Amino acid sequence: MDKIKMTTPLVEMDGDEMTRILWKIIKEELLLPYIDLKTEYYDLGLEHRNETNDQVTIDSANATKKYGVAVKCATITPNAARMTEYNLKEMWKSPNGTIRAMLDGTVFRAPIVVKGIEPCVKNWKKPITIARHAYGDVYKNTEMVIPGPGKVELVYTAEDGTETRELVHQYKSAGVAQGIHNLNNSIESFARSCFNYALDTKQSLWFATKDTISKKYDHTFKDIFQEIFDAEYKEAFEKAGIEYFYTLIDDAVARVMKAEGGFIWACKNYDGDVMSDMVSSAFGSLAMMTSVLVSPQGYYEYEAAHGTVQRHYYKHLKGEETSTNSVATIFAWTGALRKRGELDGNQELMDFAEKLEKATIATIESGKMTKDLALITTIENPVVLNSEEFIKEIRNILETL
Ligand code: NAP
Ligand code: MG
Repeated sequence: MDKIKMTTPLVEMDGDEMTRILWKIIKEELLLPYIDLKTEYYDLGLEHRNETNDQVTIDSANATKKYGVAVKCATITPNAARMTEYNLKEMWKSPNGTIRAMLDGTVFRAPIVVKGIEPCVKNWKKPITIARHAYGDVYKNTEMVIPGPGKVELVYTAEDGTETRELVHQYKSAGVAQGIHNLNNSIESFARSCFNYALDTKQSLWFATKDTISKKYDHTFKDIFQEIFDAEYKEAFEKAGIEYFYTLIDDAVARVMKAEGGFIWACKNYDGDVMSDMVSSAFGSLAMMTSVLVSPQGYYEYEAAHGTVQRHYYKHLKGEETSTNSVATIFAWTGALRKRGELDGNQELMDFAEKLEKATIATIESGKMTKDLALITTIENPVVLNSEEFIKEIRNILETL
């Protein structure tokens, strides 16, 4: 059979450790035999980031702006231990942080739902996607320990020097204080990324904050979302048969627990941090979470939500067998290939992405899976495969579809 042709390259961002090993096997077994794969390759492995003074990360983000679609392998975010391990010139920043800042994007995380890996919440039947605003609030705060009596004020000094003051608290004894901020630009980008992604995936969008208590800060988020929705997206949502609604965060939590899934839940930075961990662990496994960065201009970068699976890599280096789950990394590829196909009008490529996802899910549902899933599955007597066997079994099933 002829291989599927591609017209525009995907931006391919290679990564580190165990996921780098999986990356290569996935390409060899599941992609290259079927697709005339066109990628513009960027090696974001830590060694090469160090050699290029992290320029490669910046280049890969610029390439994503040029071509529109990227697929990324998990990468190491350096810490003190990595400085010695890789003999680094500098403690390079998280590539995800750099790329997210350059694309001004929002990260959407969604679980891959399969029969046999059942969510703790019984009524959840479809994925719940969390969109987290990744700028500001408590993550860029300024804090003070207040040693004793005195007052704390918020002071805004305009460029012409005029001051506006708000009393935070008149302290009669010791305490603490915190200043946080956000920017309308950033909230607007967040809103547009959410509305675009909702239309793209034909899922309704929920947004929740605590605007009854935070009448200016949270209320601004609510107003910006509503203004942009009314002016730019309302008709398209009606046409697509999906809805946007705003509610209080407490109400959203209650509704989410009773819902069956199949929607996007947009969260402020802190809520998104907490709720995405809750949703992913309730759905079963971090190894089954996908992640996509969507920019307000409609650039997409797909990846797995998990890291480089360092512990498995060290076993691999010692020559021991590993059983590392490649599902989220495979779905990063299928997400990117499908989007590339959509943008290029390449139906064959979209069909292939669909087929590869089906084959992956069918493999698990047939009882063949990696160790992490075997530990939590409701399927009786699962067969545990090693990292490579699992991918090869997906290929066997793919050949039958
Ligand atoms: P991790 O790679 O997500 O792995 C943590 C643990 O979760 C693993 O040790 C493993 O548990 C389990 N796990 C995660 N993914 C799995 C998979 N695909 N298959 C089977 N088990 C899986 O997190 P980490 O070990 O804390 O971080 C390692 C490196 O990844 C760090 O350098 C960090 O900076 C980086 N990181 C990168 C990204 C990214 O690029 N998006 C995200 C997070 C972390 P067991 O060992 O119990 O089997
Ligand atoms: Mg967290």
